[in-house]
Amino acid sequence: MSTASQSQSRTPAPGQLTFVAPRRAKPARHLADLTMAERKAAVTELGEKAFRADQLSRHYFEKLNGDPALMTDLPAAAREKLAAALFPKLLTSVRELTTDRGTTRKTLWRLFDGALVESVLMRYPDRTTICVSSQAGCGMNCPFCATGQAGLTRNMSTAEIVEQVVAGARALASGEVPGGPGRISNVVFMGMGEPLANYKAVIGAVRRLVEPAPSGLGISARGVTVSTVGLVPAIGKLAEEGLPVTLALSLHAPDDELRDTLVPINTRWKVAEVLDAAWKYAARTKRRVSIEYALIKDINDQEWRADLLGKLVRNKLVHVNLIPLNPTPGSKWTASRPEDEQAFVRRLEFHGVPVTVRDTRGREIDGACGQLAAAE
Ligand code: SAH
Repeated sequence: MSTASQSQSRTPAPGQLTFVAPRRAKPARHLADLTMAERKAAVTELGEKAFRADQLSRHYFEKLNGDPALMTDLPAAAREKLAAALFPKLLTSVRELTTDRGTTRKTLWRLFDGALVESVLMRYPDRTTICVSSQAGCGMNCPFCATGQAGLTRNMSTAEIVEQVVAGARALASGEVPGGPGRISNVVFMGMGEPLANYKAVIGAVRRLVEPAPSGLGISARGVTVSTVGLVPAIGKLAEEGLPVTLALSLHAPDDELRDTLVPINTRWKVAEVLDAAWKYAARTKRRVSIEYALIKDINDQEWRADLLGKLVRNKLVHVNLIPLNPTPGSKWTASRPEDEQAFVRRLEFHGVPVTVRDTRGREIDGACGQLAAAE
């Protein structure tokens, strides 16, 4: 681990959970933190006409322009004032790594206070997905995840989350990513952090993503996935937001004995409780819940566990996503043998459960699931 990441947070003891982020100075307010009404109030307070809020929003969310100096339809005198008040620089790109002939790209960002986070853009023939971070670090301490091992530094703001998507959208629009100019179709909250432990900022970000321009980016809610270790009360709350995003649940074990160790939050909310919350989410939103299950050799990949999982999820609005374990520093675990993976798939299919093995991208650049550690 680099000194940079050590200075950010303290390494947690095994099984230790951190819910409350350490107190730190907050990032400056940005246009993307605000609703349309709040933007109008903010520009009026600055002595500008309310319609400027609409203009600024179109620049940012439609043209992906975050620099008022380039907003030539604004009076020159107002530009600097508006820039200072609504467009602080929140993210600075520290490093970019690409693979898959440039169609997978991981960016390391420095936040205003030196905290580091990562996002990963993945372009496929039929869609482009960006995987964003919602916290610097993570307090959930899953032992097979590099982010979890480094502990929690702080929550990110709504605008810090949105800016990752806007930066990706900008790179795509400008044709920087091979495949010609494009747009972001999917956003997955599967980067660093536990999104539901930073609930308010994450909901704000989801709203900005799905609101049509000029209020937001106009991405379909169906294209947005929020992944969680299983914070049961927050899943219940999310179901009531009227935002039909896909819920992904990081299950990784069908039995409490093993899940207590793989996903420490299980000591608080058990498998039965978290699945119950997931089914309620599916019933309320009519959205298929995605069950994430990293296959770890000889740990959670036995056929009897596949059977148990199959029995727990069959006949539900569900999809099981198996993820071959990605290597992380210091971990003794590795991905399952191919024959065990296949047997696991077959058992789930036997129970009639829709299942796919995730094509994990970005392993070569430590950009795959569980590998984001944000060290310089
Ligand atoms: N905290 C949220 C969001 C992170 S999503 C959550 O846990 O759901 C990242 C996904 O990758 C989670 O499903 C996580 O369990 C999984 N993951 C973590 N480490 C991994 C690894 N080494 N190999 C494969 N998947 C991993």
